[in-house]
Amino acid sequence: MNELPGWRLEESTLGDVRDADWRVAVLPMGATEPHNLHLPYATDSYEAWHLADLCCRKASELGGRVVQLPVVPFGTETNLRAFPLAMNLQPSTLFLVLRDLVASLEASGIHKLLILNSHGGNDFKPFLREIYGQTKVHIFLCNWYQMIRDVANSICEHEDDHAGEMETSLIMYFRPDLIRYQETNNPAGTPELAADEGSRRPLRFEALREGWVGLSRPWQLLTTNSGSGNPHSATRDKGEQLAEAIAGRIGPFLAELSQAELDPFFPFEPDA
Ligand SMILES: [Zn+2]
Repeated sequence: MNELPGWRLEESTLGDVRDADWRVAVLPMGATEPHNLHLPYATDSYEAWHLADLCCRKASELGGRVVQLPVVPFGTETNLRAFPLAMNLQPSTLFLVLRDLVASLEASGIHKLLILNSHGGNDFKPFLREIYGQTKVHIFLCNWYQMIRDVANSICEHEDDHAGEMETSLIMYFRPDLIRYQETNNPAGTPELAADEGSRRPLRFEALREGWVGLSRPWQLLTTNSGSGNPHSATRDKGEQLAEAIAGRIGPFLAELSQAELDPFFPFEPDA
């Protein structure tokens, strides 16, 4: 019989959990929303689950004692509500879900948590601020699509905002069975994604274009089929490189976090 990976809570029994000495939990946060015409609604959830799994694998290999919690499949979709079945949880609802999950970890004696977020509509920094001082759990936040921009810029041709080259490459790596292709008449017969170009309607104001004034973008005006960013040069190989780069950063951090003492100075250096 194959040995199961020792970090997935969803595959563990009570006996496994009693034997485990987990110090850090990883909570993958996904979403259920359209991703152009070629990727599935659960794209963010698959990314979150597979990336969390890879990161926990790396951390475990380095001696980290980490547990991967099941993915939360819903996120904030208020600006995609014009699209069918974009399944929304309001930010305040999501914060309550997180608060209760943090309380469950605290009650189980796991006092370090990394939220691994895969969805741009999930804005969790305010949650960290709100819960600060009300729990023994030290909460860390990583939006993986932001921490990997340097790598994505060097291996991808197009910048990805939503369902573009980066996300498509990752799903080609993690779940190639779910990618949709269309009939093509190019001479080589190479498969063509069933996607549009992911072009974006430009904003009217320079301040918004440059990003020094923000807004929550109405996605049905920004995009045609919900895709923002050209996915057509995505490859499985790029997906593998991106995933390895993400796990290569987060895995060692988790191992370090697992070993770190929860002294009064945590997470700062103690006095010399
Ligand atoms: Zn996505």
